[in-house]
Amino acid sequence: MQTLTDNWGLIGHEWAVDLLASRLATGRTGHAYLITGVPGTGRFTLALRFTQAMNCQSADWPFGVPCGHCRACTLIARGVHPDVQVIRADGRSIKIEAIRDLQRDLTVSPIEGRYRVAIIEEMQTATDQAADALLKTLEEPPASTRLILTADAAENVRPTIVSRCQVVPLRPVRPQAIAAALMQRYDLPADEANTLARLAAGRPGWAITAVDDENQLARRREMIDMLLDVLRAGRTERFNLSERIARDDSLPLLLETWQSWWRDLLLTVEGSSVAPVNADRWEELRALTYDVTSEEVRRALLAIRRTMDALSKNANARLALDVMFLDMPYL
Ligand SMILES: [Zn+2]
Repeated sequence: MQTLTDNWGLIGHEWAVDLLASRLATGRTGHAYLITGVPGTGRFTLALRFTQAMNCQSADWPFGVPCGHCRACTLIARGVHPDVQVIRADGRSIKIEAIRDLQRDLTVSPIEGRYRVAIIEEMQTATDQAADALLKTLEEPPASTRLILTADAAENVRPTIVSRCQVVPLRPVRPQAIAAALMQRYDLPADEANTLARLAAGRPGWAITAVDDENQLARRREMIDMLLDVLRAGRTERFNLSERIARDDSLPLLLETWQSWWRDLLLTVEGSSVAPVNADRWEELRALTYDVTSEEVRRALLAIRRTMDALSKNANARLALDVMFLDMPYL
């Protein structure tokens, strides 16, 4: 589990963490905060950590540092703490109904936390009525209540609301800090981490999503390697693979990936000018045009489609896969 003692587990924004932690330590938290910045900067993560810090039950840490693993910290991270609410746009905007529901809930004192906390995301999307209603709560906040708003920019939120909040403007995070975090948390090699950090343009959230996508790419490559291996193998190996993957949760994804590869091969064999989905395998696809005919590729595609159909009807996966592999050419 990630430890939150170091900068609350955030990438960058040390000054903001210091500010909020010192407010907590001295018991001088305001009733309302407005965290601004472009999406992916870390606004919601900061709001969540602040909420955890306010309600953390661990006695092992100094007050103001969320432990990340007590009941309160875990429930907050999972979005199911009874005293914490997150309000997001319903469709394109935050509507008055959502604010009214919130106000009703805020009149009840905290059930198990120190504070009742409402995180309202993207406040700039609130309708006029919703903003009016929220202003009343900001003017007379119930005791033990904390409101944390996020927005793209303070200018896009009504001035009467901004003036009642402590504004925490998050600026783009330095690429060095993003790269260091990517290396430490995801074991990325330095050159990859630096490239992603540059592309992230100050948004750690963007970089983290990109790393996850990167993993998906790597998995996709492995799946295609698996297919190429089996095409070069005999019956026994093919049946062994059926047995291995029949119960695998990723079987649907595996079949989809293989289908996209066979489609690419069909386009290549037939000399189409359409760019292949698996562009990184272009050389291999071209080399295979000497080994397979377009009929063989079509038969393999049909076999995959039949297998997908059979699986959707809860057929025996292993049998369906056995039949499928027999319909694929031997390289
Ligand atoms: Zn905790």
